[in-house]
Amino acid sequence: MVGPADFKARERSDWCPGCGNFGILNALRAALVEMGLAPSDVVVVSGIGCSAKMPHFIRLGGFHTIHGRALPVATGIRLANPELPVIAITGDGDGLGIGGAHFIHTARRNVDVAHILHNNAVYGLTTGQIGPTAARGFKTKTTPRGSVEDPVNPVALALVSGATFVARAYVGDMAHTKEMFRRAIEHRGYALVDTLQPCVTFNKVNTYEWYQKRAYKLEDEGHDSTDLMAALARAQEWGDRIPLGVFYSVDRPILEDGMVGLKGGALVKRDITDVDITAALGEFD
Ligand code: SF4
Repeated sequence: MVGPADFKARERSDWCPGCGNFGILNALRAALVEMGLAPSDVVVVSGIGCSAKMPHFIRLGGFHTIHGRALPVATGIRLANPELPVIAITGDGDGLGIGGAHFIHTARRNVDVAHILHNNAVYGLTTGQIGPTAARGFKTKTTPRGSVEDPVNPVALALVSGATFVARAYVGDMAHTKEMFRRAIEHRGYALVDTLQPCVTFNKVNTYEWYQKRAYKLEDEGHDSTDLMAALARAQEWGDRIPLGVFYSVDRPILEDGMVGLKGGALVKRDITDVDITAALGEFD
């Protein structure tokens, strides 16, 4: 029987006390325990940023990649071993800035990856510049008079890019966040959880109290999560009311369904003892 202690990493977290990343870590661990998955059954892939330290702080198969590239690496892992649940971790800067194009293409290809987007509107690791989800007027050390840009809307972008599962969680509600993560991991296809995660050090606007006053649950208002236009309408809500929950969830073939090379089973399990790559290696002499 797997328990939370099985996912405890040897490395100690260096996140700031009170950071929303702790809520994501705890909710992810709880979701995996609930699903009965062992640490060796799952892989977590990250890019660069405070969020990207996740593979060090949870005991799972882990791959800490380079900035913005968590999703293509997750795609490669998934295609090599379609039997392995793959979780991609990005921040909003990592996943929507430098990794923005990968976000769109992973969604439209419907790669079977659960994507947990740590959304705090700042680049925390580099001490608090505006991130892609920062609101117009948001003040940081690089925008002392306030940002003059409008933010990316990750939920709307995922929906119009073809994502088959799009949800939002807020780390102040642990049980709900765990539920969103579990559903994303169980979903067959690309699954985004836009996870609202206060950066207590560099974002003094989007605090726990700020979200607490505004968040409401889509399921409490009869939202139909199979209706794309209804999902897009809800995705526009931000400010006085912020919807949490599943915006959209439908079935569609995943990338690997169309790949003839995968019909013989997982690549990592193929017998390659009679494969001779000497000639190919010769090209690098
Ligand atoms: Fe968390 Fe912000 Fe500290 Fe990074 S800088 S660990 S996001 S509170």
